[in-house]
Amino acid sequence: MKSYTEYIWMNTNDRYEIINITSQVESAVKKSGVKEGICLVNAMHITASVFINDNETGLHEDFLEWVEKLAPYGVKKYKHNLTGEDNGDAHLKRTIMGREVVVAITAGRLDFGPWEKIFYGEFDGQRKKRVLIKIIGE
Ligand code: ZN
Repeated sequence: MKSYTEYIWMNTNDRYEIINITSQVESAVKKSGVKEGICLVNAMHITASVFINDNETGLHEDFLEWVEKLAPYGVKKYKHNLTGEDNGDAHLKRTIMGREVVVAITAGRLDFGPWEKIFYGEFDGQRKKRVLIKIIGE
């Protein structure tokens, strides 16, 4: 069995951003040499997500508006922020949008359903964050 690990570093301009990382994951699959296997992609921070959905900017705005309704930003809104942090909302947004995705690798390629792409969702950005790609298979 082969295994391959790669880290992608992110530093977003905005506090909230959704970034398409599909091509970076595809290039990791190519580098791994794995033809049949599994690819895990996860955010390594508790205020950022990795998720799969459509690459459509209106939908991305819908996601950001939806999570803002569920967990609006507000320094005095969350018990977590009593610790001196201001990102209580970002922890909740991350949880609803998910930590990781797993995609099958078939014939050396990510075996997506129609329109599926992989996104990094940032909810407390403007600082360096990491995404892990772990590929196993043959
Ligand atoms: Zn925090």
